[in-house]
Amino acid sequence: MTDAAELRRRTEELLAAYPPATTDRTNFLKARFDAGLAWVHYPEGLGGLGAPRSLQAVVDAELEAAGAPDNDPRRIGIGLGMAAPTILGYGTGEQKQRYLRPLWVGEEVWCQLFSEPGAGSDLAALGTRAVREGDDWVVNGQKVWTSSAHLARWAILIARTDPDVPKHRGITYFICDMTDPGVEVRPLRQITGEAEFNEVFLTDVRIPDSRRLGEVGDGWRVAQTTLNNERVAIGGMRLPREGGMIGPVSRTWRERPELRTHDLHQRLLKLWVEAEVARLTGERLRQQLVAGQPGPEGSGMKLAFARLNQEISGLEVELLGEEGLLYEDWTMRRPELVDFTGRDAGYRYLRSKGNSIEGGTTEVLLNIVAERVLGLPSEPRTDKDVAWKDLAR
Ligand SMILES: Cc1cc2nc3c(=O)[nH]c(=O)nc-3n(C[C@H](O)[C@H](O)[C@H](O)COP(=O)(O)OP(=O)(O)OC[C@H]3O[C@@H](n4cnc5c(N)ncnc54)[C@H](O)[C@@H]3O)c2cc1C
Repeated sequence: MTDAAELRRRTEELLAAYPPATTDRTNFLKARFDAGLAWVHYPEGLGGLGAPRSLQAVVDAELEAAGAPDNDPRRIGIGLGMAAPTILGYGTGEQKQRYLRPLWVGEEVWCQLFSEPGAGSDLAALGTRAVREGDDWVVNGQKVWTSSAHLARWAILIARTDPDVPKHRGITYFICDMTDPGVEVRPLRQITGEAEFNEVFLTDVRIPDSRRLGEVGDGWRVAQTTLNNERVAIGGMRLPREGGMIGPVSRTWRERPELRTHDLHQRLLKLWVEAEVARLTGERLRQQLVAGQPGPEGSGMKLAFARLNQEISGLEVELLGEEGLLYEDWTMRRPELVDFTGRDAGYRYLRSKGNSIEGGTTEVLLNIVAERVLGLPSEPRTDKDVAWKDLAR
């Protein structure tokens, strides 16, 4: 078993062979991947060493101290947080070799073609069709809210391959080439003024069967790996103390004593403590992940993350008074990365509204926690045994 000392030794070797100051960023990242120091819990040959996931922090700290570049996780979050664990769990050897390295290095951006105009919370109702033709699948349909589709080289896609069976059973999971001529990406402007996400039209997109992930008809199970990892990726990212939304408001509080009131002080203290508890709970969750894939517990983190971001950014706007209402730039941007805590207080306030929708709405996550964590009775489901084609839409 690779331990912390061994990882330190390997990290020093990497730094000696590829000094960050004189090595091209991409070359350094490729060398880091090949040394098994990208995600240490991944298998050897795929960027890891089969080491405990918790030891990643050892490598990251050494590399940061040496001024080494990182792979800019905010830019490639969907690839790292969702596509990669799904490819690792269900991909063939060839698929893992082809996709994981450029994904981790950041040479290929990924997006997620799941939600549709008629299938968001009820994702299993999706209607995008994939029909087998020889060695290919021909895909037609529309996806929506697709973050980073305008930047993406690849997408994880779920589509209906069998309309004659109940909705959860007739879905298959694919890797879709976003450069296929049948893929059309159109921006959707958000409340922030930006267009982080898109609608995506798929017209006769041909996907070779070799880009199927998992068995035909097993796509719902494969998608659970993606969705469980998504909630951890959104709500459970590693942060230093005051690293998230609580950071900017705490700084303003310290630097601008003239803005303080007793009421805001009480609220800030309460939110500061809650943010710290959420951060530490995230640490514990990551330690549990050492034992395998995340389960529904990640939904709890994502719930807390969304609520806190909205309450904290609301407090920040109140603290800043009139200044907090200023929003200087409504130009439609196509951001390269999503930084929830970036820009100004107005941006944080507006962007955090989406936190309780993206990656599963708060209502739906409460249902998941109730049913699969607390073991409470499930919602009545009348469509479980009805063929998808016979469902009312
Ligand atoms: C910023 C952002 C980025 C996104 N990025 C992506 C992406 O990259 N790829 C992608 O595929 N999707 C993406 N999404 C889509 C997101 O996953 C969906 O918006 C979400 O799952 C909700 O689906 P919906 O919008 O269709 O709302 P609906 O499912 O129509 O929900 C409407 C309302 O009904 C409530 N509701 C629905 N069902 C229940 C229930 N059973 N019990 C109680 N209440 C219920 C919901 O909570 C919500 O309040 C993104 C969304 C946002 C906001």
